[in-house]
Amino acid sequence: MGLNETYTGDLLAPFNKTRVPSSKGSKEVQDFVINEFISMNQTWTVELQNFEENGYNFTNMIFGLGSNDSYLILAAHYDSKLTPDGFIGGIDSAAPCGILLYLSHFIDDIITEDAALLDPVLLENFTGVKMIFFDGEEAFNEWTTVDSLYGSRYAAEKWGDDGSLVQMELFVLLDLLGGDEPIKIPNYSKSTRVFYKTLQKIERKYNKFYGESHKIFENSVTSNLRIADDHTPFLERGVNVLHLIPFPFPSSWHTIEDNYRHLDEKHIHKWCILMCEFITKFWNPDSIAIHPLKPKIQDLNS
Ligand SMILES: [Zn+2]
Repeated sequence: MGLNETYTGDLLAPFNKTRVPSSKGSKEVQDFVINEFISMNQTWTVELQNFEENGYNFTNMIFGLGSNDSYLILAAHYDSKLTPDGFIGGIDSAAPCGILLYLSHFIDDIITEDAALLDPVLLENFTGVKMIFFDGEEAFNEWTTVDSLYGSRYAAEKWGDDGSLVQMELFVLLDLLGGDEPIKIPNYSKSTRVFYKTLQKIERKYNKFYGESHKIFENSVTSNLRIADDHTPFLERGVNVLHLIPFPFPSSWHTIEDNYRHLDEKHIHKWCILMCEFITKFWNPDSIAIHPLKPKIQDLNS
């Protein structure tokens, strides 16, 4: 289904600043993301989880559409690491946040009109979706179980207590994506291998269409590797998780070099397309997402 061009403008540039919890940059990014959802066609629910820990104020942002009893979750963290000074976190996770916004617009559009015209099966099967922008993923000092994952630990506990974790059909976490190095993502979980395979298939098609040879999803054998990330508190509580993080990590990880100069527009475009089709196939396996327009990413070098 087609996408209209109005929102392919600047979804990434607003994240190009330090976004340490409680900071001015963090607040500016929150305002931008909230306004982006308010500007959409559908009335998305807005849940802000504010809490204090370790002397910092944190705010998780959750935006929902459709059923409150059953939904797909797409998540990334919007905070940036306190050190090194001036750390931007282009892949960690400015680009994944921009991709989440792009996907949100895509879902908003197909629910608003395109699905009814082009894909009634999808519209009929659509349950609900929640987009989560976590705060406080990064440690302030050394990474420990109590100095990291502030936002996701808070949310998983809250939703564990009120019973909403069982409503999550699948929890997809995007992290360290959109950089200029070629990456590999192994399959981290047996229980969600079927979704990994769906992405493999979609990538095969993408690569054929765009004449590309590099495969991100190469190996569906389940890796024993467990990478601590915002999915961890959910995984520990039995939620089905698809963890989309490369291994090995890109070389810029947690260095000052993880900035917008090392983002790659083509790679970000690929993620937008892969995930748009993944989303439509989640509700209609026969669906084809034709064809998200190329997201314009401005300010890549600022
Ligand atoms: Zn990080």
